[in-house]
Amino acid sequence: MTTVAAYAAPAAKAPLERTTIERRAVGEFDVLIDIEFAGICHSDIHQAREGWGTAIFPMVPGHEIAGVVSEAGAGVTKYKVGDRVGVGCMVDSCRECENCLQGLEQFCLKGMVGTYNAVGKDGEPTYGGYSQKIVVDENYVVRIPDGLSLDVAAPLLCAGITTYSPLRHWNAGPGKKVAVVGLGGLGHMGVKIAHAMGAEVTVLSQSLRKQDDGLKLGADHYYATSDPKTFEELAGTFDLIISTVSAPMDFGALLSLLKVDGALVNVGAPEEPVSLNLFSVIGGRKTLAGSMIGGIRETQEMLDFCAEHGIGAEIELINAAEINEAYERVLASDVRYRFVIDTATI
Ligand code: NAP
Ligand code: ZN
Ligand code: ZN
Repeated sequence: MTTVAAYAAPAAKAPLERTTIERRAVGEFDVLIDIEFAGICHSDIHQAREGWGTAIFPMVPGHEIAGVVSEAGAGVTKYKVGDRVGVGCMVDSCRECENCLQGLEQFCLKGMVGTYNAVGKDGEPTYGGYSQKIVVDENYVVRIPDGLSLDVAAPLLCAGITTYSPLRHWNAGPGKKVAVVGLGGLGHMGVKIAHAMGAEVTVLSQSLRKQDDGLKLGADHYYATSDPKTFEELAGTFDLIISTVSAPMDFGALLSLLKVDGALVNVGAPEEPVSLNLFSVIGGRKTLAGSMIGGIRETQEMLDFCAEHGIGAEIELINAAEINEAYERVLASDVRYRFVIDTATI
C-alpha cells in the first residue's frame, strides 16, 4: 500500500479538502501512475453533491487523468516505466460479458467499476484523479500520444471520448450537419472533434456570450437557444444533434431541429427527469438516443485521432486549493472550457 495526497469531499455537498488515501500495492497486471493533471468534469460535481443519488464518502473525484507510469507489475506487457498514459471513467469491468468482449466495457453487464464512487473487485472503494498517484490494471489504461501535452490531454479521457463516440457512431463527417448543444467541457470537445471529422458544425448555446470562442473552436454557425427565432430558423436542419447540457432541457424543441431520420443524442446527465411529448419523434421518424463515454479501444482511437488532428482541450489550469471555486464556476456555466488540476499542488 502507498499513502497518497488527495483532495476529497468528506460528505455530500461538503467542500473538498486535502487528505491522504491508500493506494493498493502494484499487482501483477497493474501500473502505478504518477498523476500530473486531472480534469474537472461536471459529473464530479453531480456525484460529490449526491445529485445522482447516494454516493460513497469520502469521495476523491476525477476521471480525466493524465500522468506517467512509475512502476509496472511483473505481468504488464502494454506499458513500461516512463510511458505517458491516461485513465478515464472506468478502472475495471467483468471482461467476459458480450459487451466487454465487444470493447463496450462501459456497458458491462455486471457493471463497470467507476474510477471513483465505486467499489473495486477487491471490495475497496475506488478513488479518482484528484490525487498524486493511482494504481490501475493495464487493460483500463490508455496511451497518450507524444504529440499531445498531458494537461490538455487529460479532459479527453472523459469529455473527449463522450463526444467522439456518438459522433463516430452516428457518422458525423463531410456533408453532415451537426449541432452541439451547450458549450462547456463536453461541448467544446464535441465542436473540435466534429469539425475535425469534416462535419458542418453549429453551436446551440444559451446565449451568444461565447460566440467568438465557438467559431474559433471550429463551429461554422452559432445560435442562442434563448432566442425563439433560433428554433424557427433552424427547424428541420440537422442530421445529428449532441446535447451536452447538464440540466433538464426541452428535448421536444431540440427534436424539431432535426431532419427526417435525424438523431438527437443526449450525453448530458441532469439530476432531474425530463418530460417529452412523443409526437416530437413520431413526426420525421426521428431518433432520441443516449451515449455514455466509450470503450477502452475507442478511447485509444479517440486519443490517436486527437493527436493526428492537433486537438487538445481548452483548459484553465488551477491549483488544488481552487477546486471548490472551480465547481461554483462550472455550475454557473462559467468554464472556458475545462478546469484542470495541477496535481503537484495537492
Ligand atoms: P459543463 O462544462 O458544465 O457544460 C455544460 C453546458 O451546458 C454549460 O456550459 C452550458 O453551456 C449548458 N447548460 C448548463 N446549464 C444549462 C441550462 N440550465 N440550460 C441550458 N444549457 C445549460 O459540463 P460537462 O462537464 O460538459 O458535462 C455536461 C453533462 O454531461 C453533465 O451532466 C455531465 O454529468 C454529463 N456527462 C455525461 C457523460 C456521459 O458519458 N454521457 C460523460 C461526461 C459528462 P452554454 O453556456 O453554452 O449554454
Ligand atoms: Zn466525466
Ligand atoms: Zn462485462
